[in-house]
Amino acid sequence: MPISQPRASNSDLVVTTLGTGTPVYNPLRCSQSILVEAANFFLLFDTGRGVAQRLVQAGIAPAQIDSLFFTHYHSDHTVGFADFWLGSWLPAGGGRSKPLKVAGPIGVQALIDGHRIAFADDIRMRVADQKLPLEGTHIEVTSHSECGVLFNQNGLKVTSFETFHGKMIKPNWGYRIDYAGRSVVIGGDSNNDRSVAKIAADADLFFHSVGAADESLMKFPEIARILQHHTTPQQAGEIFSVARPKMAALIHIVTPSRPGLPPIKLEDVRAKAEEFYYGSIIIAEDLMRFEISDDINIIAPNKAS
Ligand SMILES: [Zn+2]
Ligand SMILES: [Zn+2]
Repeated sequence: MPISQPRASNSDLVVTTLGTGTPVYNPLRCSQSILVEAANFFLLFDTGRGVAQRLVQAGIAPAQIDSLFFTHYHSDHTVGFADFWLGSWLPAGGGRSKPLKVAGPIGVQALIDGHRIAFADDIRMRVADQKLPLEGTHIEVTSHSECGVLFNQNGLKVTSFETFHGKMIKPNWGYRIDYAGRSVVIGGDSNNDRSVAKIAADADLFFHSVGAADESLMKFPEIARILQHHTTPQQAGEIFSVARPKMAALIHIVTPSRPGLPPIKLEDVRAKAEEFYYGSIIIAEDLMRFEISDDINIIAPNKAS
């Protein structure tokens, strides 16, 4: 598919869920990455597995991304970074010639420095051989440890907030994006953190992660441990009820399984959450496009790609 400019839209804020999955390998669900378009900016939140491929499928060249924000450093949110970063520098990825801006909680500098070391030979060879501009590999890093505004240009604002994912899973953050009276909240991975509901109060679109398994699977300690780090469907429904977003969406749905014991169905996860919520809940899919203006228009993946 040729890389093209994004489709014209009259919406104030457009959100595309590039990757909606988890660490589990699933060709239909890359791991987490969300694209936000507004005010002629392209902002990326996390770089999960397959992020560069999904960007191209969404009609965006990786080089078009202005700023990247990491929620936390579980690998399912970061492993696509090298492909995204270096691919964006190549002509096929749009030929980035200016530095990429990357923000994240403490640890982001080490992540970026490590990538520079790991790919030093690739960069050296392509500068010498293909004459690619070294500046296109440069990254401006900002790390944050307090809640606050990280991006504020042309009315587009990104605000960070800390969330609880687990006692040993720190730092861990989410982001609220505001533009022209529209808003989207990316809760990141969290474990029944009710403070997220306050941040997401009256947001247009609120993404929340969730985890669930049938009783037969909960007796496995490794599965119980994973699910201890995630919000249950009931808790997610309650958080949505407090936040009262215009649209509630589940993303990053953790559904462990074992041989002979299949994962809980996503429809059952949704149904359990909806028992505790007054409205209907969307299950985000890869390449689902949310166009936010007075209403929220969802374009299904098969039509968007
Ligand atoms: Zn995580
Ligand atoms: Zn995750």
